Amino acid sequence: MRHVIVIGAGIVGLATAHHLLTGGVRVTVVDRDPEGDKASFGNAGGIAVTEVIPASVPGVLWKVPGWLADPLGPLAIRPWHAPRLIPWLLRFSRAGRPSEFTRIVSALAAINARVYDDLLPLLAEHNLHEELQQLGALTVYENEAEFNKDTMQWDIKRAWGIEVRTVSGDEAREIEPALGRSITRGVFTPQWSHVRDPKTLVDKLRQSLLARGLDIEVGQVCDIRPGVEGRAVSVGLSDGRWITADKVVVAAGAWSGALVRCLGDTVLLESERGYNTTFAEPGVVLSREVIFAQRHFVATPLRCGLRIGGAAEFGGLHAPANFKRSQALARLAALYLPGLRTEGGTCWAGHRPATPDSLPVIGASPRHPAVIYAFGHGHLGLTQAATTGRLVSDIALGNPSLVDLAPYAISRFN
Ligand SMILES: Cc1cc2nc3c(=O)[nH]c(=O)nc-3n(C[C@H](O)[C@H](O)[C@H](O)COP(=O)(O)OP(=O)(O)OC[C@H]3O[C@@H](n4cnc5c(N)ncnc54)[C@H](O)[C@@H]3O)c2cc1C
Repeated sequence: MRHVIVIGAGIVGLATAHHLLTGGVRVTVVDRDPEGDKASFGNAGGIAVTEVIPASVPGVLWKVPGWLADPLGPLAIRPWHAPRLIPWLLRFSRAGRPSEFTRIVSALAAINARVYDDLLPLLAEHNLHEELQQLGALTVYENEAEFNKDTMQWDIKRAWGIEVRTVSGDEAREIEPALGRSITRGVFTPQWSHVRDPKTLVDKLRQSLLARGLDIEVGQVCDIRPGVEGRAVSVGLSDGRWITADKVVVAAGAWSGALVRCLGDTVLLESERGYNTTFAEPGVVLSREVIFAQRHFVATPLRCGLRIGGAAEFGGLHAPANFKRSQALARLAALYLPGLRTEGGTCWAGHRPATPDSLPVIGASPRHPAVIYAFGHGHLGLTQAATTGRLVSDIALGNPSLVDLAPYAISRFN
């Protein structure tokens, strides 16, 4: 039986393990803290298949100074990290050129179009189908001018077959009565869904995979050594142990960059830290995820409460979290959800693994074909995990790919 090591027990690593086990492969997941906190636990829970627009859109750079001027605004760059961020920012700016933008949209649409084909069977096989709430999402606006600014993006989504229904403020309140009068416009996207609780999903999936024969090794991977002629590959742990397998999948989220570098490959990957507050007793009821487009935050009704989240903070992997951001998002939400009780919430921060072109890295290492990359999903890691797992397992098993993998290749960073 073939043996594959997957580094990372986040949603991407576990979904990959699922597809490999289904393909008859022996799988060992290695994680320094398999049950510990990670982006896959605290995210907003959105299965955001409609999100085919990258972060870098034409003209976005003009908005950056305004965002940065607000210390608790939607975008922050920690000053000491700014010099290290320059190559990433230059590439981000290039991704916003019209020709790049079109290429990236089509690559995001290609992967998102497959999401339910891969996610629904995965959930069903692990008896997790009830974790998914297929109720669509509502994007809301405070005024016509802001709504009009997004017209092009909605048109692009329509052109990619995404169902988009514009609604008035009153119609938005019929869909979500908790919304205040300041909402004057909305867009309902029925294909979006959300999970009841991302942490429960990951925990249950991990337990179900263990029951199906998955091995989990606890350890910090600090080295990867490919064998001769791309055959066996060994993974070195910080306690001195080595584990050898036929292939290794790097699914270590925002920490994947260090592992890529030890293999001699190049990537531009940053931690884009996000924040949220979850209110167990919010005093308001939402049925589906609501996206507050102008203010760049979302509210998702989860089993554990109403989660208000957003923000994009670039400060590297080691900067302490600034939970004032979580609190600021909660205060902002209270402006639009008038009944929201903002006492007693639980603050959280997590590292999104962000590439400058908003595309994940999926594919074999050009130098070492026994190593396969599966990271860099940014805002869409929960959404794209099942499909990434499917694509990675096809690479490992030598099956033809269901999607053209060229746009996700790590070689784009050379
Ligand atoms: C605030 C916020 C909201 C979000 N909302 C959404 C959303 O609504 N929808 C959506 O699709 N996505 C969302 N995301 C993004 C999504 O959460 C991430 O893209 C996704 O969880 C990444 O999963 P992952 O498995 O790649 O990484 P992670 O979940 O970070 O897991 C990586 C794992 O690798 C392990 N690891 C790392 N390095 C090593 C090493 N050297 N050795 C051993 N183990 C290692 C870590 O311990 C960790 O367990 C959000 C993210 C944030 C922060």
